[in-house]
Formats: sequence, C-alpha cells, structure tokens
Amino acid sequence: MSATESYLDKDFVVADADCRIRREDNLMAYEMQGGDFKRIPQGSHIRIDAVRVVPTGSNGQLIFGHAILNGTPVGWTSTRNLEGRFVNETLGEVAPEAGASRYGPNAAWSRGKYIGQKTLVSIVDVSLHVERIALETLDAYVRLVDAARADGVSVAINSAFRSYAEQKILYDGFQHHLPGYNKAAKPGSSNHQSGIAFDIPVAGAAGHPVYDWLTRHAPDHGFVRTVSGEPWHWEYRPADAAQAVADNTFKVPGIA
Ligand SMILES: [Zn+2]
Repeated sequence: MSATESYLDKDFVVADADCRIRREDNLMAYEMQGGDFKRIPQGSHIRIDAVRVVPTGSNGQLIFGHAILNGTPVGWTSTRNLEGRFVNETLGEVAPEAGASRYGPNAAWSRGKYIGQKTLVSIVDVSLHVERIALETLDAYVRLVDAARADGVSVAINSAFRSYAEQKILYDGFQHHLPGYNKAAKPGSSNHQSGIAFDIPVAGAAGHPVYDWLTRHAPDHGFVRTVSGEPWHWEYRPADAAQAVADNTFKVPGIA
C-alpha cells in the first residue's frame, strides 16, 4: 500500500474508446501499430506502474500513466482515458530539501509568519492538474473522499497548498488588476500557505450535493468551514471540527 502513490495499488478501467498509446520518448506523439494508432481496448482493466506530468501551454498539465495489461507493459497513455480520470490520485511525496528557505516550495506560513517546512503530497485536482497537500492531512482527506464516494458524492479540490512564490503571483496579479486574478491575501498571510486549507468546488453552496454532504459530514473527518463568504474553503482542524460536531455545526464560530 502506498498512500502517497495511490495509483500503484489500483486497477483502472479504460473508459475512452480511443485510448491511444503515446511514444515513450515523446508523450505528445502517438505510437502506431499496423498503420493505425496503438490503443488499449475500452473496458480493459489495467495497472499503472509509473506516472509522468507534462506541462502544456501557460498553466496546463497533462498526466500520463504507464499501463500494464494482463501483466504486460503496453506503454504510456493519458490518465484522462481512465475511469475516474485520476482525480484524487496521489502522485508521490515532495519532501523539503535540507536547509530549504522560508520562501521555498515546501515552506509553510501562517498569519504572516514562517512556521516551518512541510512534506507535501502531489494530488490530482478536479481540473486534472496537480496540486499539493500537506502529508499530515492526507489520511483525513482520503477518508473524507472515500466517505463521500460511499454516499455517491464526488469530493475533489481545485486549490490546496500554496508556496510563498505562488501566493506572491496571485497577490501581484490582484494588485495590478490582471485579468483572471481575484482578491488574494498578501504572501505569508494566505491560509493556503499553512498546509491545512482545501478549496472544494461546491458551485452555489447550499443545495449543491457536495456542499450539502460536507455540511453534514466534513466535521466528522476533521474538516470545518473557516471563512465567511467562502463556502468552498474548508480547513483540516481536528480540534475545531470536534467542537463543531459537539455544537451541531460545520463552521468555526463567527463565520457567515
Ligand atoms: Zn481557499
């Protein structure tokens, strides 16, 4: 079992009728076979024994898995071809480097103060991009996702841990009114830098199946709402969640 490389433990079903094999030396190109694309048949059960993430364009990413069919390697294919599309699969740990700076990729901040280095885990978000969450939150998040799935509800994230540099880009974009940038906290002050924040898409909140499920069950798994007016923003705060359960709510006090 590998919690931080979840895909290693699973069977995946090929959902796409046109599941093409990519070239090992160039994942943007296809392998040919007998004058046609080489494909894995729809409905096949495969294993994935390795993953590669390829950046595309300005902000895009494609995730490829190395497929094993009936014990035989058949090559690389897009994980979008698979049932579940790899959402919530973990792709490995990202440990802080020795002597890493407070502005480095694993540096956590809270309320303007550096609070130390976090081991992070790469995880696939709802848009099929790779996010990072703090390793210490992984088990709780997986339990939340599994419990929701058992109730027929798909919980996924669209933003989680942010480094100082990433928050600075968001803040600068906001300050300069750049298109596509929303209100953002100063670098060091975003609650997404501490390693406990998860943005979970809930559309219009109340009435949306994900939101309604979270309001009923998230505190049982250690998650609570912590920001007024941000129904998508949940934090892993076991003590506050236990209090919320006792108080029959899903928010920390004072949140609208
Ligand atoms: Zn948030």
